[in-house]
Amino acid sequence: MSFMLMEKLNIHSTYRLNNGSQMPVIGLGVWKAQEGKEVEQAVLWAIEAGYRLIDTAKAYGNEAGVGRAVSASKIPRSEIFITTKLFNGDQGYKSTLKAIDESLNRLKMDYIDLYLIHWPFVNWLQGENRREETWKAMEEIYKSGKAKAIGVSNYTIEHLEEMSAKGGYAQIPPAVNQVEFHPFLYQKELMDYCQKNQILLEAYAPLARGQKVTDSKVSAIAQKYNKTNAQVILRWNIQHGNTVIPKSVHKERILENINIFDFELSEADMKTLDNLDENFRIVNPNKYNPHLTKLYLKLKTFLSAIFVLIILSK
Ligand code: NAP
Repeated sequence: MSFMLMEKLNIHSTYRLNNGSQMPVIGLGVWKAQEGKEVEQAVLWAIEAGYRLIDTAKAYGNEAGVGRAVSASKIPRSEIFITTKLFNGDQGYKSTLKAIDESLNRLKMDYIDLYLIHWPFVNWLQGENRREETWKAMEEIYKSGKAKAIGVSNYTIEHLEEMSAKGGYAQIPPAVNQVEFHPFLYQKELMDYCQKNQILLEAYAPLARGQKVTDSKVSAIAQKYNKTNAQVILRWNIQHGNTVIPKSVHKERILENINIFDFELSEADMKTLDNLDENFRIVNPNKYNPHLTKLYLKLKTFLSAIFVLIILSK
């Protein structure tokens, strides 16, 4: 199944997740939006502009501000899709069950729409892995209704296979995988895997954190449609069937980033944008590269063995 929508994309478009929930195609990311006035104002502007998805996390330190803004808006809670994330140190069965309650408390909500495991590792340097027991707790959370959908973030195909392939540990498959995704990091293999397995790919850092918005090839396309470069880059992502969560704390950019439903990129322009891929990553992939972790662990064992030999030989 593909998440590509049959009808024309519009500001109200949603994707149907593999558990039947509906998730908006665009949302506001709030990483680095300061807790307090800044995040509250950004969320209020976004809701006013038509955004119905807000992406926060325990690690962003602004769940409380998001919650205050949602309740101050005139939109019923049931019409706004809230995502938050379990942070690394909270992984584990009991601590995950505790962490969701703490997030709900900060948000002042009795459920969230999507709860994600923020990273596949507790501490990648120690290679500590609590993915299975953490997912068991996520499933409990889903069954309890505290989260209407559960998913993962920064998971590679290997991590997804480990949980969902035949014999994997997941009873309930993840509904979403939130990863870095933009034309300069076109993770086609991962996107195809997610679409084939009914996992919605949610694109974070969809503007490559602003570092590539002036790219000349993007400018040439933007001129043709009379749109901005940021709008073209975001439109590319949703035309691939992904959800996007651009972050901004500026009203004009919040408005600009959602104004992407009055044009459609041609197949040729989609291809040109696909070809901008240069494996340009904003977020360090080593943090979740299982091969590097294995290498690190081997090196650590080797060095420990040498250390023991030195001690014994004295
Ligand atoms: P992003 O959305 O790609 O880019 C945000 C940056 O671009 C900000 O500096 C913003 O500045 C600027 N910007 C916004 N709109 C613009 C426009 N129209 N033209 C030019 N610049 C613009 O990067 P991101 O914040 O890293 O990613 C988005 C969201 O994804 C985050 O906020 C977070 O919710 C989520 N995320 C998740 C993970 C994860 O591990 N799961 C990792 C990273 C991000 P101003 O705010 O000053 O306008």
